[in-house]
Amino acid sequence: MDNKDFLSKAIELAVDNVANNGGPFGAIIVNKDGKIVGRGQNRVTDTYDPTAHAEVQAIREACQQLQTFQLTDCTLYTSCEPCPMCLGAIYWARLNKVYYAADQQLAAAGGFDDAFIYEEISKQHEARNIPFIALQLDNRNAPFEKWIEHDEKVKY
Ligand SMILES: [Zn+2]
Repeated sequence: MDNKDFLSKAIELAVDNVANNGGPFGAIIVNKDGKIVGRGQNRVTDTYDPTAHAEVQAIREACQQLQTFQLTDCTLYTSCEPCPMCLGAIYWARLNKVYYAADQQLAAAGGFDDAFIYEEISKQHEARNIPFIALQLDNRNAPFEKWIEHDEKVKY
């Protein structure tokens, strides 16, 4: 299977998911040996989980299957350009590379907020649709101080 075959599989998952009352998004994760180690379909509405995007679902499945929280040698194939949340998840999972089919403009035409959220990121905090307000509490660094001095932490 080549990159186009894997990406076609992700699109198939997305198309099948619509017939199953899910969102029009599908993703797969392939390891360095060309084996599919994770599959994901958008299940936001039926699981009442706004984070259940196809990419996140695929990352969760691959990490469980490989018993790791870093997918360093794996590649993600997704039917649509990842939204900012999934982009973050992809960076946290340390995936090697991403191939996508539709872009965020096509997602916007389909009624999805991907492009809107990308625009929000570049705005000043106070100009965002959802305000982000930093409160300067005296103990705001306590979690990091605790983390830095903790000797047996699992770094990620
Ligand atoms: Zn997403």
